[in-house]
Amino acid sequence: MMRNRKTTLPALIRPSDASAWVACARRVWFDQHQPVAYEPDDFNRMLSDIGLAHEAAILARLQSQYPVSTATSVENTQTLIRQGAPVIYQGQLINEELGLIGYPDFLIRHESGHYQPADAKLSSSENKKAIQIQLGIYRRLLANKLPAIVFLGDGRTAVLGDEVDAVVDEFIDSMRAILDLPQPPLVRYSHSKCRICPYFNHCLPEFETSEDISLLYGIHGKAADHLAESGITTISQLAACSAESLPDAPYLKGTKRKHRAILQAKSYLTGKVFQLERTTLPDGTWIHFDIEDNPLTPNRERHVYLWGFLLPDYDTGCFEYVWTDHETNDFEGWLGFLKKIEEYRTRYPSLILTHYSNHEKATIRKYAERYAMEKHATVAWLLGQNSPLFDIQNPVSDCLVLPLQGYGLKDICKHSALVNFQWQNEESGSQWSVVQFNRFRAEKNDAERQRLKAEILSYNRDDVMATRKLEEWLRNLFR
Ligand code: SF4
Repeated sequence: MMRNRKTTLPALIRPSDASAWVACARRVWFDQHQPVAYEPDDFNRMLSDIGLAHEAAILARLQSQYPVSTATSVENTQTLIRQGAPVIYQGQLINEELGLIGYPDFLIRHESGHYQPADAKLSSSENKKAIQIQLGIYRRLLANKLPAIVFLGDGRTAVLGDEVDAVVDEFIDSMRAILDLPQPPLVRYSHSKCRICPYFNHCLPEFETSEDISLLYGIHGKAADHLAESGITTISQLAACSAESLPDAPYLKGTKRKHRAILQAKSYLTGKVFQLERTTLPDGTWIHFDIEDNPLTPNRERHVYLWGFLLPDYDTGCFEYVWTDHETNDFEGWLGFLKKIEEYRTRYPSLILTHYSNHEKATIRKYAERYAMEKHATVAWLLGQNSPLFDIQNPVSDCLVLPLQGYGLKDICKHSALVNFQWQNEESGSQWSVVQFNRFRAEKNDAERQRLKAEILSYNRDDVMATRKLEEWLRNLFR
């Protein structure tokens, strides 16, 4: 785990810069030259707490096997290394010549007498590149060929050796170049990265003032760079183009894509909705379906704690669900879900099980694999050729161009000129739900547990209510 330990040598490159560097070069520059106070949200605070608990568990395990010394400074770390301490906790390594400083969670003495750096990480898949860089820098600071160790949250151990050297070199060279710049580097907007970045309020007005093309949904930064080389630098200029006159650019090839990009620019400027093609929504009895899942389980397998459904007549009293309190009841919840599906199948012979995005279908597939139930009759029906599952995001993204920067369910439904459906709890969201669920699990007071559960249910009910409102809005639009 990386801690926010202060260094008196701000020009040094820290492995903890790797996450920001992977996300955005401009963010790295701001972190160094104009940092803002950043308050993590509840979800990230919870992730950090779980990460620290994981680090403490690894520490306890190592302490049960070896004497563990806690380092107090760079000099003390060197002393402990010279003394041959079997495990050094919170070591501090510096190489001013290389311009590097690092704080590995553990330094573990190898039988060769050299040390291996080791970090406790919850998962290797999230921010994989940043983990490779962090551990690769520790190796460089230790200047030996031993692989670094990653103690993962699911109990596995990964090792990283010479194969990460190339990305470490790239990181160090790039960091030096960025930090030497007198001004923040110019980058393109990325909706997924920028909206969660502490510098969002600083950067967005600049992107908007310059009408940066990358503000548009579906326009990759590389496409914006390429169009700029052809003289198309603003959204207004793009809106005035024809698909035939627009040059090919990365991620922007073919008349259909170009036409869509131009309409996206027009929609951004005018707020207008454009219909690319007409579609018909499937006939049948629609049930709206949405799941809530917890990724923070001990084995990192997502546990669906809530399978929610909105049935005809689609008012708040028509909400049904399957709930499980704990991942140890995961199988029970899955069977409860399948039982509900069979009930609905019998009750509504032309059932359409509507959800937003591919997440629900992918989760059913994962559960089928997890419990080796691919051939189970209900599962085979859900995932087979005549599947009742219907992803309502498809007609949206295939047929419409909307005045939005993201096409998530909330983006579309909350927009006052589009679906205009508002969630009862404005703060709610999928990460919010995970936080509430983990609070529910940790809570001892029964009344408080019930209150937390009711909040999660209310959020899930609003989600399925939203897909119902989206259905009505689409039916009206496509009529
Ligand atoms: S808001 Fe976007 S462009 Fe600005 S620093 Fe953050 S990620 Fe980079």
